[in-house]
Order: sequence, then C-alpha cells, then structure tokens
Amino acid sequence: MDFTAGITEPTVRLGVTGLSRSGKTVFITALVHALLKQSRLPVFEAQAEGRVRRIYLEPQPNDDLPRFAYEQNLAKLMGDNRHWPDSTRQISQLRLTLEYVPESFVARNFGSGRLHIDIVDYPGEWLLDLPLLSQTYQQWSAATLAGSRSGPRTALAKIWHDHLAILSAEMPAEELSAMKAAELFSTYLRACRSQQTALSSLPPGRFLMPGDLEGSPLLAFAPLDVTPNQEFNSGSMGALMERRYNSYVAHVVKPFFYGHFARLNRQIVLVDVMSALNAGEAAVNDLRMALADVMGAFRMGANTLTTHLFGRRIDKVLFAATKADLLNQNDHDKLEAILRLLVQEASAKAEFSGAKVDALALSAIRATREATVTQKGQEFSCIAGIPEAGEVISGQTFDGEKEAAIFPGDLPLTPALALKGLQQSALHFVKFRPPLISGETFPHIRLDRAIEFLIGDSLP
Ligand code: GDP
Repeated sequence: MDFTAGITEPTVRLGVTGLSRSGKTVFITALVHALLKQSRLPVFEAQAEGRVRRIYLEPQPNDDLPRFAYEQNLAKLMGDNRHWPDSTRQISQLRLTLEYVPESFVARNFGSGRLHIDIVDYPGEWLLDLPLLSQTYQQWSAATLAGSRSGPRTALAKIWHDHLAILSAEMPAEELSAMKAAELFSTYLRACRSQQTALSSLPPGRFLMPGDLEGSPLLAFAPLDVTPNQEFNSGSMGALMERRYNSYVAHVVKPFFYGHFARLNRQIVLVDVMSALNAGEAAVNDLRMALADVMGAFRMGANTLTTHLFGRRIDKVLFAATKADLLNQNDHDKLEAILRLLVQEASAKAEFSGAKVDALALSAIRATREATVTQKGQEFSCIAGIPEAGEVISGQTFDGEKEAAIFPGDLPLTPALALKGLQQSALHFVKFRPPLISGETFPHIRLDRAIEFLIGDSLP
C-alpha cells in the first residue's frame, strides 16, 4: 500500500527521534508552525524561490497511530501563560501537504506539485532496543549486568544489585520477586538517565518510555546473574524471565521495527549534546555507544527485506544538537563540530553507509537573544531571556517574569577536547521560558537548514 501510494502521491515519511527531553516535541511543533505560517526560512530553497504555494495539515494516513498534538502544543507556547509543551511519551504522527511549483518545465506541465510529509515522532529509547533483536535473554542479562558494575552506574545500581543477590536463575519462578526485580531495575535505568548522570544507552526502551505498556506484564522482567550460555529448567525464575524477555522482543521490539521504523525514508535524530558534555566523560562515552546503536538501526533500515517489499529505505539522516540557543552564537559552530565528530565515529563503528548523513546545531524555538555584558572593563558575550520561575543564578531565584543575561560558558576550542568531558559543570544552563512572540512566527537557529536537508530535494 505504501508503495502504490508513493507512486500516485509523493510522500516523505520523516522520523523524528531522540532520547527523552532532547527536544522532539518542540522541534516538530516549531517545524510545522514555521511551514504552515511560511516563516522566513532563507535556506529552504523552494520557499526562498517562491515555489511553495500552499502548506496545510491533512488527516494522517495511519489510523493505528495517535495524532501528534500540534494544536495543543502550539497553544501552550503562546501568550502570557506560555510554557513548554509536554514531552514525547509514545509514537505519534502528523501529515502536512505542500503544494508547489515544480522547477522544471516538464514537471510544471505534468507533475503533481504536491508532496505529503508524514512526520512520525517516536522515543529514541525505542530505537536503542534494536540490539535486543539479536540477543538471547542470557546474553542481554550478562551484558546489562556487566555494564551496571562499571563506572558511575555501580552506585546507582546498588539497591537493584542487593535484590538481585537474593535471586537465582534456578529458584522456582515467583511473580512478586520478578515484579520487584523489574521495578528496581527500572528505577536504576531512570537514575542513569537523570540529569546529573545523563547516560544514554539504557535498553529495554519501554522501561524508560513505556508508552501504552505502563504496568503491562510484558515489562515484568529484569536481568539475572547468569552466564551468556546458561540453560534454565522449566518452572525456574530463569525460565520465567527468559519467556518474558522473548515476549518483549516479539510483541514490542519487532512490531516497532518492522511496522513503523522500516517504513521511514528520512530521519532526524535530536541529541542533547550539551547535557552529556556537562555530565562528564562517562556520559559522553555512553552517548557514543547510543549513537553507534542508532547508526546500527539505520543500517538495518537501509537493508531489510521490508525495504525491498515497500521500495523504501532511509536515504537521509540528520543529527541535530538541540537547544543551541543556550550557548552564545560564537559557540554554535563548535557545538556542530562536536556532534559531527561523534556522528563520524558512530558511522565508522557501525559500518554505516548508504544514506546521506549530516550534523548541525539548531534551536527549534529560540528562547534567548545575544547580549553583551561589561564587567570590570571586560566584555562578555552573554545570552538573555526570561528564566523559568524557580531557576537560580548566582544565588538569585527568578520569578518567571524578569529577564536576565547570563554567561553560559564557552565550549572547548576543539571537538576532540570537548569529548573528553568538560570540567565539572563548565557550562551554565538555565531553563528559559519560551519567547513571547509579537509576530506570527518563532525565532529559531538553523531550522531552515534542517528543513532543506530533510525535504528540499523532494520538491524538484
Ligand atoms: P522530547 O522529550 O524530546 O519531546 O523533548 P521536548 O521537545 O519536550 O523538550 C524538552 C525540553 O527541552 C523542553 O521542555 C524545553 O525546556 C527544552 N527545549 C527544547 N527545545 C528547545 C529550544 O530550542 N530552546 C530551548 N531554550 N529549550 C528547548
């Protein structure tokens, strides 16, 4: 169906992903708004050339997916009461249709001049489940446990490990202990993801982002202290955990990859690079691993049998470091260079090829503006905006109304230096409120570059 629909009406299926809080909801809302309102997007060539006639929302093609809450998100970002919308918690979709004047004479006469863009928003945590497709429960358990016994993870895993010590794979299967293990394991994963630690690679994805599986028995499993080749007797705890893990892979991971992921043909991956840098070397290394896994998923997306059946494959992937507005503009290129280096490393590690890959630093909604502050005769390049109520800067607590200029700190001169992790909290982040807009459109940083890369060539 996808294939025949693609012939009659050209369609871009654009996946938007990234770990939780990386900026997916804000990005999609800003992207759709900028296109619908035909904001000034100089790098988006078709629009700059005046070839885009009309852009509007249409009913989405897949009835089995929730609709992306565009209107509700937009309403939250506007007016005196404005605030950031709720983050992505599950998969959703939105269809935009563009009517445009084709570039060539022939196309102008015969071409349809219509393009559908189906935006699919989904948690990056789900994408990091890909390695589970080729791992047995025993292999996954052993690897997960080894990971939890190294670096900053060890301390965070303490309570879960204490419980694990009273379990064994041979003991009789027992539901309450299994559920307790799953609960403590999830708490451990959440602690790894928290702001101070900012670790990225934490499958199974639904433990952090359950979507509609909250409380489901599909999530009532956890690793046990087993060897990669251990076999379990029937009726044992090991056998119960193994069965649940296999169900998770069969009923959650596979349908997501084959039903949704394999049907995308463009992809943007949003990355909160600054939080990882700020959390130190362990977080940066974890982000490296996660990006290599993401690349692995795209390699699969480019080669699977489904792509032959559907005639689709992911042919362009954009990695974007979000919230660039939290840095001074002198640092935007540095942020981009850091992400580019991370992406290069990840593609080499995952032996990824076949799709065009790019990296950029952006801010979908720019909450700050540039400012210069002079202190003791020295000038500092700062950013100014309205910090959210309760944010504290140098001992001063903000009320959510007053504007402040802050010096966010500078990124190291070279990307290689930055990837060693910054000195303890070298960057100063403050949560700013969304900007109060006077005109129709939000200020942004390089959103138009992202649009041109992702859809520019689909408007021939
Ligand atoms: P999601 O979990 O990937 O859907 O993340 P969201 O889109 O909800 O973004 C998480 C938070 O990051 C938001 O609530 C904002 O506080 C912040 N954020 C996202 N995009 C931007 C941006 O462009 N600029 C700034 N200053 N903050 C942003």
